[in-house]
Amino acid sequence: MKKIPLYAFLIVFFLLPVFVLAQTEPVDLEMVYKIKQYEKSRSQIDDISFWMTDYLGPRLTASQNKARANEFVKNKFEEFGLSNAVIDPVRPFDRGGWDNKKTYVAMTAPYYCAYAATPVAWTGSTKGLIKGEVVLLDFQTVEELEQYKGKLKGKIVLMPSTNTYEPSFEPMASRYTDEELKEITSESMAGRRRYGNFDFEAYRRARELRRAAADFLVDEGAALIVNSSGEFNVPRSNGASYTAGEKEPVPEINLAVEAHGRMQRLIQHDVTVEMEVEVKNDFSKGEFVNNVMAEIPGTDPELKDEVVLIGAHLDSWHGGTGAADNASGCIVMMEAMRILKEIGVQPRRTIRIALWGGEEEGLYGSRGYVEKYIRDPQTLDLKPGFDQFDVYFNMDNGSGRYRGIYLQQNEMVRPVFEAWLAPFENLGCNTITIRNTSGTDHLSFNSLGLPAFQFIQDEIEYGRGYHTLMDTYERLVMDDLKQNAMITAVLVYLAAQRDEKLPAKPYEKPDPNSQGRRMF
Ligand SMILES: [Zn+2]
Repeated sequence: MKKIPLYAFLIVFFLLPVFVLAQTEPVDLEMVYKIKQYEKSRSQIDDISFWMTDYLGPRLTASQNKARANEFVKNKFEEFGLSNAVIDPVRPFDRGGWDNKKTYVAMTAPYYCAYAATPVAWTGSTKGLIKGEVVLLDFQTVEELEQYKGKLKGKIVLMPSTNTYEPSFEPMASRYTDEELKEITSESMAGRRRYGNFDFEAYRRARELRRAAADFLVDEGAALIVNSSGEFNVPRSNGASYTAGEKEPVPEINLAVEAHGRMQRLIQHDVTVEMEVEVKNDFSKGEFVNNVMAEIPGTDPELKDEVVLIGAHLDSWHGGTGAADNASGCIVMMEAMRILKEIGVQPRRTIRIALWGGEEEGLYGSRGYVEKYIRDPQTLDLKPGFDQFDVYFNMDNGSGRYRGIYLQQNEMVRPVFEAWLAPFENLGCNTITIRNTSGTDHLSFNSLGLPAFQFIQDEIEYGRGYHTLMDTYERLVMDDLKQNAMITAVLVYLAAQRDEKLPAKPYEKPDPNSQGRRMF
């Protein structure tokens, strides 16, 4: 027998772990095939999209319309055959409920012109149909407001324009190029610089000035405040800070820059401008932020209490139907659950869907979930949900297809996602970046070090449309949503079957006296 040379042992000794490591992340390709074929032939994305946008309409946090959406989604979950469907109140909501019941806005002099408008949420109603001359509030300082003292009672007040229109040479809709995706994977060693060159001081001054003007207008008894927000004659939605039980704020509406600008320029040229407006808003109790949840229960006696969580926010602004922001995420997550249920998976861990409320006002729903199930907000003691938490996948960047995933600095999970996304390379979804992405519900979990991720998504028309009247069914790209549902279903299944939970970042108990604890 020929003697085996030492170097052969060394090669085996050193290379074996490499092979072993490379093969430790199994991917059930038969399940990938099944899910893919199912979604290609029996997708219900189109149908769910209709119900979640045209049928449900806007879903402002704590509104009556949101309550209707909660019921609808819970019933849909039951229709899908999911278990433990529940509307789960998690946090008090001090603004209370608010629903717009009527909005009619027109300029009547120097000629008639109806305008697209959206009321500012949590502001009051006009006293029926009001008509009158429009007064431009021309001020740069609090002192300059004084000149209007005693002149605004019952008047329609045009706030000075805060934005001007600049032509854009960007395409209306876009997808990531290969170069852009490559750029996203690079990491900068610069420290936390969340707001870039944002001028906080100017922002603070503008806000204080606005607040002073708002108080002044209440004291003077103005009938209506007209703001400028949005462009292309598409007003943008937003909300006033208001606490339920306080006196109803003066009614306020947003017009797009074009309509607002026209009236401002007319007044500046000494042309008398008149408007007629009727706004009717209902305030209601709406005391809680609710999440809507359902499950496919786990079956492994050791792992069934562990949770693979997926979600998106069900609440929206009130102007459009919150299609891209964020019915799209809800539709994808609902379809992913439906696929898994229809295929008849028996997951080892429990798979849970949570459609959050109150995201737009500050991630209330997902933070409330953390407080209720994962960490006590007062004592900061961890609850059983912390150890039972495996992973959370969130979608909230519009209707565009997944192009990869943000690791949120969790390098430990990279090899797992590399293996899991490999079957989707031909669909353009294989970019993995160490970077963070922010602004939505995965942050509620990520702040505790838990594995919680958002996908890199093609922009499509998201930036132009979200929070505006044009965020409707038409903004949804059905094929992209189908692809996202399919990939979500695969990742969720693989996470539910994995021997180990996904690696978390080290948990650091926050200093109870620090500012941060108030946030979570
Ligand atoms: Zn959103």
